[in-house]
Parts: sequence; structure tokens; C-alpha cells
Amino acid sequence: MQTFYEIGLKPEILESIAQIGFVKPTPVQTQTIPFILGTDKDLIAMAQTGTGKTAAFGLPILNRIDPFSDKVQTIILSPTRELCLQITDDLKTFAANLPVNIVAVYGGAPIVQQMKELKRGCQIVVGTPGRVNDMMNRNKLDLSAISFLVLDEADEMLKMGFKDEMDAILDQTPETKQTLLFSATMPADIARMAGKYMKKAERISVGPENTAHKNISHEYCVTTPPNCYQALRRIADINPDIYSIVFCRTRIETKEIADRLISDGYNADSLHGDLSQAQRDLVMNRFRNRSLQILVATDVAARGLDVDNLTHIIHYHLPDDQESYIHRSGRTARAGKSGISIAIITPGEMRRLPFFERQAGAKFTHRMVPSGREVFEKRLFNFVDSINDAQPKGYDLDVYMAEMMKRFGSLSKEEIIKKFMSLEFNRYHADYQKAPDLNVATAEHKPRRERDRDTAPRRAASGQFTRYTINLGIRNKIKPDTLINIINRQTPDMKIAIGKIDIQQKFAYFETDSQHDKHLQQAFHRAKYKGLPLTIQPFMKDTSKRKKKRELAWKE
Ligand code: ADP
Ligand code: MG
Repeated sequence: MQTFYEIGLKPEILESIAQIGFVKPTPVQTQTIPFILGTDKDLIAMAQTGTGKTAAFGLPILNRIDPFSDKVQTIILSPTRELCLQITDDLKTFAANLPVNIVAVYGGAPIVQQMKELKRGCQIVVGTPGRVNDMMNRNKLDLSAISFLVLDEADEMLKMGFKDEMDAILDQTPETKQTLLFSATMPADIARMAGKYMKKAERISVGPENTAHKNISHEYCVTTPPNCYQALRRIADINPDIYSIVFCRTRIETKEIADRLISDGYNADSLHGDLSQAQRDLVMNRFRNRSLQILVATDVAARGLDVDNLTHIIHYHLPDDQESYIHRSGRTARAGKSGISIAIITPGEMRRLPFFERQAGAKFTHRMVPSGREVFEKRLFNFVDSINDAQPKGYDLDVYMAEMMKRFGSLSKEEIIKKFMSLEFNRYHADYQKAPDLNVATAEHKPRRERDRDTAPRRAASGQFTRYTINLGIRNKIKPDTLINIINRQTPDMKIAIGKIDIQQKFAYFETDSQHDKHLQQAFHRAKYKGLPLTIQPFMKDTSKRKKKRELAWKE
């Protein structure tokens, strides 16, 4: 592989990238840098997040720019304010030894200040489509003489509805410019846009298209909806050094999960659309400088957040589409590091996994939600390690040693250790002892002989399960996961906790959370499986009292 030096970058640039520790180009850089240095042809480059795209276009552009003209020569469009600032920062670092001015223009900040900066003159503008368009309409930004147009995260820009602004901007740029489009995915919209605005573009694709990083370990654990939060806690507990984004689907859920984590003593906060820009910046900065370990976020809010060294991406729920999964998981394992993407899923979501696996080009590994005991042990030994590393800071314990030794008196080393540990762990132990198993056994990850007889302990939100019989059995080729799928299909959007399943020759038993009794019977009204009308019936060792109660419940 070529080095940056062999590629032929200016010494000023080589010096600044050496300072920030870039030793060799990443694969996308190896392909794009010589291309942009050597030709004026348009380029479509596909590479996942974290593959070094900023330097892939930034370095060759800086190399070719004329520092002695103060006309805008390059416009870089990016979907969010955060990305825009990040690109600007990166470019300024690369250009530390060049007399090049770079200005960022983005919404959510006073426009006047940005106008002043533009007026002072600059060669590169990095902006969000909305604000750039605004500046052009106000005649504060002239793109008529640009040599380079970069569309960074083009797929995201289209997804965010910037199509009209992008069209308007592109219309006012000269024919002669070189257009460079970077995207992690290549949806039809992008292909269409490329066809419209680009001349015989060269295509570069790093790695298989739409494929997640190789060094991400894709994992999942299965639990019931009411237990998702506890499962999240256990994952955090068993990884004391976790540095993670937890993705939720809605703002409300994001807030709720973050609030619970905070009140349970975790170092967490939330990022979602209801926050003001100042609040968002604050949260992101705390997360970037690692004063926060866990950031709970929606897909949209986390879009601009590129943080290195994340250990875990946690999907509190699977996203609606596969592309979002790739975007989420691509936030870990950046710049050659490795990372874990783990989804907390419910039995009903199992059937969606294969689609995500196909998109990620990787088989997902089933992981058990850690047991209370495992978490306890992990914390205990972690504490032991931290004692080993502990040192008094700025004071001297030696002067008290004689007195302390006297007070410990005849205690042996073992006894002292036990006492120290119990001081820290007495309060946890009861919790961990009682901690239930949160895993739901699914057909896929159970030993064969256990598959049809499912005995794992589970919990219903209401604390009680109702047992039903259904007229499907082994003779209908029913397996537990088929049955789970049928129940979920009949009860869309309900997230019913499913308990034990027991499949017999001609019929099967299943348990569901008793709080859904009323709905369940309705849900199966006129239900069919492969043309066969289904009937379900509650099955209880019926005392007449219970029976009455249930009948009453259904009459309501
Ligand atoms: P992308 O835009 O593809 O998501 P970035 O350009 O933000 O990725 O780069 C991701 C991370 O990799 C950044 O921290 C960046 O500094 C680092 N990086 C980029 N190129 C190199 C390189 N050649 N060597 C080492 N680190 C790099
Ligand atoms: Mg980028």
C-alpha cells in the first residue's frame, strides 16, 4: 500500500497529518486521494462511517486549492450541524500549515456572525444545505467559481429532506467543477441524483456495498418487552468500562430510558429532538470527553455524532429499516478498532433478524443476558482490580499505619479482605441473588431435545400468565417460533409477553401475560393458519371462582 508521501501530498499537509498520527491511508483514501489529485472527473465513493472519508476528500482538495485566491473554491455539503463542524475542524487540522481559510455555515446559530466570516474571505465553505442555500439567496455566498463540490453523507442529506435545497445550490455552480459524492449507502435517489448532476462519474466502493464493518461483532439477546430495561442494565453492569450509544426509537422512550438509568446511578444522558441546540452541544461534549459513559439517543439525534472508541452500540429496539442498523452499528469499530453491536430483542422480533444479517453481511451471535450472579462476580473482581491500582493521592497514609494496624488487631489478611469487600457489596448482593433470568429461550438457541418443551423461567408484566390451548400441534409442523410468530401476527403492536410453550401432537399450550386476556381472544377471532381456522381457549385448573372471574372479565 502507498504511503501518504508516495501519493504525492504537499510537505505542509504530510507534516500536519503526521502530527495527528495518520500513518497510512485507509482503503477509501488509497483510492480517492490519487484520483482527486490526478483527474477532474466526478466521483461517487461508497464507504461506511468511520472509514476516513473526510481526509479522503479533504487532503487532495487542500493539496489542489489555490491559497492565494480568496474566492470560494470548494463547497462541502453535509447533513447536520455537528458533521459540518466536525469536517471543518478536521480540515483546519489538516490545513494547519497552509494559509487556507475554512468557514462553516449551518443552521441553529446566528447567521450574522457566519456572514462576517464569509465576507472576510475563504477558500473552503462547509455547510448544511439549508443554511448554504439561505446564504446564496442573500448574496452572501458566491459559488460561481468553485472547482470542487463535495456531497458528504449524500444519502443522509436526501433522507433529511434537503433535496430542494441541494438542487438549488447545485444549479448555481459552474459546469466545470469536479463533483465528489460520498455516501455509506446507494439508494435509488442517490443514483438518480448522480445521474442528473454528475458527468460520467467514476465509482469507487470500499468493501461490499451496504455491508457493515468486519470488526464489529453483531450480537443479540432475547428477552420479554417488560424486561428490556433490566437486560440493558445487566449489559452495562457486566461491562464496567462501557462507552456506548443506546439507540431508542422515539424521543419519549429515549428520555424515559435515560431517566431510569440516571436514577439507577448510571453515568448516562439522553440526546433527542426536544433539546435546544445548546443542550445538545452540552450533552455531546460531555459524551465526547467521556464524562458520560452511556448516551441514549434517537437515530436522528445521533446522526451528527461521530465518536471514536465506542465499545458498544446497543439497540434498545431494532430500527425500522436495515440501513439504520448499519448506520448505528457503524458508529463503533471506527478507524480499525473493534466493537460490539448488540440488539435487545423480543421473541416477536426474531423473525426480523435474518434481514439485518443479510444487510450486515454477518451472522449475528446469540448472547445470554448476563445473570445476576455473573454481574455480581464481574463487579466484585473489577473492584479487586481497582483496589490493586489504587494509590493515595496527595496525602500520606504511612503516618496512620501504626494506629490502623493496631485497630485491625488480630485480623488475618483474609478477614480484612472479606470485610472490605462486604462493605462494598452487602448492598448489591441481595439484589443480585434475587435477580431473575431475563432470557427468553427461542427455538434457535436451545439444545434440540429442549426445543419443544420450553421451561425457561419468565415473567409477565402483570406477574401472571394465562395458559391457552390452540388447535395446532406437531401434526401441523408447528414449532415454538412458528407459534410465537402466529401470536405476534394476531396481536400487532401489542408486545405481549409469551411464556411457556408446549407442543403436543394435535394441539399446543402457550402462556401469555394475563393482562392481555381480553384482547387475546378477540385477536384470534377468525384467525387462520395455512387456511385452518384457529381456536384458542384458556386452560386452567378451573376452580369455579376463577372461571367466573374470567368470564366476567371477557364480558366487559
Ligand atoms: P467517515 O467520514 O468515513 O465516517 P472520518 O473521516 O470521520 O470517517 O474518520 C473516522 C476516524 O478515523 C477519525 O477519527 C479520523 O481522524 C480517523 N482517521 C481517518 N483517516 C485515518 C488514517 N489514515 N489513519 C488513522 N486514522 C484515520
Ligand atoms: Mg464523515
